[in-house]
Amino acid sequence: MKLSKEKFDLIKTFDDDYSNLIISMYNYLTANVRIEHPEKVISGYEKIKKDMDEIILVYDAKWSEDVKIDGFFNISAKYALDELSDKIKNTPKLSLAINVEEFDNFPIWNTFMRHNCSNILEQLEAKQIEDITPMCIEETLKKYKISEVSYTKTLEQNFLVERMKKLYEIYPGFNLYYVGNNLSNEQSFCINEFDKFLYALRLGEDDRYSYIYDEVCKLIDEMVLKYNFCNFKDNLCLSQRHKNLFTNNYPPSKTDGCCYKVFHKCGYNNKDGTCKVKCISCKLFICPYIGKFGIGMYAYEFLLLNAFLTKRQRRETVYSFYKPKETILKRIKNG
Ligand code: SF4
Ligand code: SF4
Repeated sequence: MKLSKEKFDLIKTFDDDYSNLIISMYNYLTANVRIEHPEKVISGYEKIKKDMDEIILVYDAKWSEDVKIDGFFNISAKYALDELSDKIKNTPKLSLAINVEEFDNFPIWNTFMRHNCSNILEQLEAKQIEDITPMCIEETLKKYKISEVSYTKTLEQNFLVERMKKLYEIYPGFNLYYVGNNLSNEQSFCINEFDKFLYALRLGEDDRYSYIYDEVCKLIDEMVLKYNFCNFKDNLCLSQRHKNLFTNNYPPSKTDGCCYKVFHKCGYNNKDGTCKVKCISCKLFICPYIGKFGIGMYAYEFLLLNAFLTKRQRRETVYSFYKPKETILKRIKNG
């Protein structure tokens, strides 16, 4: 993934502006340096006092100690934002610096499907339906097993999200800097997703739900196109090609994948196979056949759904099949 121009400008802006300073502050203030070279912490602090008329909160997941230097706060791990509320409210300018090198905890990036979808599909394509036994499924799952990482790290993402929401309540006009030396594709993806979260944070409720809905649909569409996980050929999806009365009886139709219901094609299906009504539940749906091989995505893996929707609201996004966007949004709002 390439950085968008906007992102690039952002990074450049702080280069022209304060980025070197912020990066150097970050470097000064990593735990090791602070312990081994306390004088550098002071020089970093002096620099801030001299050059900047603002408070900077640094998010750094590795930095687990409570630290408070006048004008500079660590909000990681144990430090409670509550304790800073008064100070922050009276600050003329507030910024947050997030170390993007710590930004590797977005489950949807790590999801099983993203990494292994094409391998699994290839393996399935090569098999005859009678070879798809429980043992074959078990072997596939073992071979392409998702690393635990994507799930355990969700906690860190939740931590950061909760902190941002709180910060927004106290000080809605904060600036955000992303700092770090190199940007990997994964980090660019995470920055993009995090920016969407921050944008949504600033919207009113109605606009926010609509924005979340559209952005998540867009991301699913991108992934479906990229990973081709229904593997359509001649209007038949993989599950239809492997249909079998005893072991795989889904979907009931002969063509058009899940968009063909029992007796007719869904009324919302366009001639070219696309959906007229942007149904998020259908987009998220994965049939039992490819699902049992681990292909799929979960609503909680999407930062926006995880950050702003309750479990019940997420359930509406998952189970409102064959419904237009407006109906699903209404259900979410009432959820
Ligand atoms: S999810 Fe639907 S379209 Fe995709 S493979 Fe399964 S039955 Fe086919
Ligand atoms: S509503 Fe669902 S089943 Fe109907 S066309 Fe859209 S995606 Fe297909």
